[in-house]
Amino acid sequence: MIKSNTIFYIGVIVLIIYLLTKVFVKQLEEIKIKRQINKKPVYQKAIPEEQVVQSEELERLISEERNSYYDKLFAGKDFINKDTTSLDQFIINAEMNHNDLYKLAQLNGIKVEMNKGWNNLALKLIVELDDKGWNRKVSSIKEKFGELRFYAETDHEDILNKYTEESKTICEICGRSGEFFTINTWDFTRCDEHRNS
Ligand SMILES: [Zn+2]
Repeated sequence: MIKSNTIFYIGVIVLIIYLLTKVFVKQLEEIKIKRQINKKPVYQKAIPEEQVVQSEELERLISEERNSYYDKLFAGKDFINKDTTSLDQFIINAEMNHNDLYKLAQLNGIKVEMNKGWNNLALKLIVELDDKGWNRKVSSIKEKFGELRFYAETDHEDILNKYTEESKTICEICGRSGEFFTINTWDFTRCDEHRNS
């Protein structure tokens, strides 16, 4: 008798534990679902209207300043992209000259930040990029650490790197053959004549 009673009580306890666990798990799930429904919203910090207007105004002034710089630069010059007004119309071929390079920069909303000795190198780079198919997007054309840095939207980083390497053998001032050197931690690539300029 005692034995079967004990088994009965154990059975009841196990059943209660089982039912309680079931209720508990169900409640947990409900809480989870509620949390998902009422997820904390992520509020984007609103930029004050005034600040938006200010930054747009600044952007407009910068672009105006840049365009007047290019207008002066192109005045009286003749080059194949003189009348080009958008990147997809930009003509890329061997007839381009340094003004086409500047025009490409203007259409990309940037300035060329290097000396003219590397212009031909940059033009060759553009032709090679175009051969592989290129959207003409470029974010920077400049001298950095004594070498040409041409940052373009392309899968052909190898072409960009090749010309960066080549620029370390060409004088940034005149385009003749030059040498890469460092003075007081500043890097340059210059010919003998322009070593000090
Ligand atoms: Zn030189």
